[in-house]
Amino acid sequence: MESLPIATPRTLRPVIGSVTLSLIVAFYLVFVTNMTFWSKAVEYLGAPSTALLLLGIGLFSLFAAICVTASVKYLTKPFFILLIMIAAASARFMDTFGTIIDVDMIRNAAQTTNSEAGHLLTSGFLTHMFLFGIVPSLLIVLVRIKHRPFPQKFKHNIVLILCLLAVFTSVGIANIRTFAATLRQHRDLVATLNPAAPIFNAVRYVVATGAEKNIVVQPIGTDARVIAPMQSGKPRVTIVVAGETARAENFSLGGYDRETNPLLARQDIQYFTNTSSCGTATAVSLPCMFSVYTRANYTHRKGLSTENLVDVLSRAGIKTEWWENNTGSKGIADRIAYTSFSDINDPRFCKNNECIDDVALDGLGAWLDGVKGDSVLVIHQQGSHGPAYYLRYPEKFRRFTPDCRTAELGSCSRQEVVNAYDNSLLYTDYILSSVIDMLKAREDKMAGSMIYMSDHGESLGERGLYLHGAPYFIAPSQQTQIPFVLWTGKETKAGIDQACQQATLNDPRSHDNLFHTVLGLMNVSTKVYEPALDALASCRPRTGS
Ligand SMILES: [Zn+2]
Repeated sequence: MESLPIATPRTLRPVIGSVTLSLIVAFYLVFVTNMTFWSKAVEYLGAPSTALLLLGIGLFSLFAAICVTASVKYLTKPFFILLIMIAAASARFMDTFGTIIDVDMIRNAAQTTNSEAGHLLTSGFLTHMFLFGIVPSLLIVLVRIKHRPFPQKFKHNIVLILCLLAVFTSVGIANIRTFAATLRQHRDLVATLNPAAPIFNAVRYVVATGAEKNIVVQPIGTDARVIAPMQSGKPRVTIVVAGETARAENFSLGGYDRETNPLLARQDIQYFTNTSSCGTATAVSLPCMFSVYTRANYTHRKGLSTENLVDVLSRAGIKTEWWENNTGSKGIADRIAYTSFSDINDPRFCKNNECIDDVALDGLGAWLDGVKGDSVLVIHQQGSHGPAYYLRYPEKFRRFTPDCRTAELGSCSRQEVVNAYDNSLLYTDYILSSVIDMLKAREDKMAGSMIYMSDHGESLGERGLYLHGAPYFIAPSQQTQIPFVLWTGKETKAGIDQACQQATLNDPRSHDNLFHTVLGLMNVSTKVYEPALDALASCRPRTGS
């Protein structure tokens, strides 16, 4: 036994055995930072139930085995504190927003901008981190950990770890059928196990990112060319508005009972009522919608390693540009002209490097007037990017009130959150309608089109979920059903059978269609173009142009 000196400040610090501390930390992690996991477990296994009890015993044994394994001198405190901090932060997002922290969510977080991340660091988050992260960590810093002499500790811990693993295994085997069926049916259960799932997925993300460093982008559509100019000789101009966080459910064009699209409703547009997104987060959806791959064939790696729509358009000789008003093009615009409004930070539209979408309209007229030949402009808008919806629209569009005026959604009523979100859609309606007006005003000089698709939708409290980014297999329709708007000028319209086109508006559409529809609008011929995925091809006469 080690003898402790008396009457020094060190003695004021409580002493705790390394195994006892390991058990306390394991208990804390399993039962305090896992509210979402346990609420799902109760729902899926029933309560009270033997399966639920066994699950608790099994998980505690597993976590305890891991903590005891790590409870070696100098490693114990930093390791436990790291686990607790990760668990506290993850618990906040899982418990408050229903977020599942998978690889895509981590990628999205890693690729986000500082101003966007700032909106998530609310007072609620900081309070949560203080209570569930800092306070327990300080307690760990404060205590003095008593370790047994090494050979004795080694033997003792090995026996203990084996016993704990034996409990974990036998509990699992005793109930294998229930657990196997539950895990198969409810993949979201394991996905919320804290901090195991976030750590596992962070490691997967780091490994994948390392492997992606050496990717060489492969060209596609090397044969791309514009088949024939417009008969009138005017340049074809397509504006692609890559929308942000707009869900179809709240578009009045699709039947929402609140008038969120009053201006678009008066334009001669086509609205595709049944359109689904490729992913539920920008980092997935955006590269996917511009890629040649369909959702079924798309992977993040394929997206990175293959040229995309804007590359093919450039290769065909079309002037292609990207205007960015969100969190970046995710690599899509790496090889074309690129403007980032948040970098310019124009004080008329921007605050802290975040701009409302009027910033894009500001330069659009001049850009259109400068068009010399076939051109495509992509505008990646700020749209309805949450949780600070109230920052997305100017005062003039604050029509649905009271609107939630904070990023701390929990401190607003659900109706206030919906009001703020709907105002942001109302503003997008104005932006899109203005783009159309600018194209219409120049019909004597160009054959214009506008195509708008949101990257993903948004949850506004349905089933306790907020924001977006749910794994696709469990994502609610609010996150995957997106608005898709098309406007074509007179000359382009003349080449499309309107009655035929009208009859397709309720057909299932998706991000798979963007690549091919834009190639079709620009009359680009290439072997990677698939008419079956062009939302207009089936109603175009075979002669083309
Ligand atoms: Zn997005």
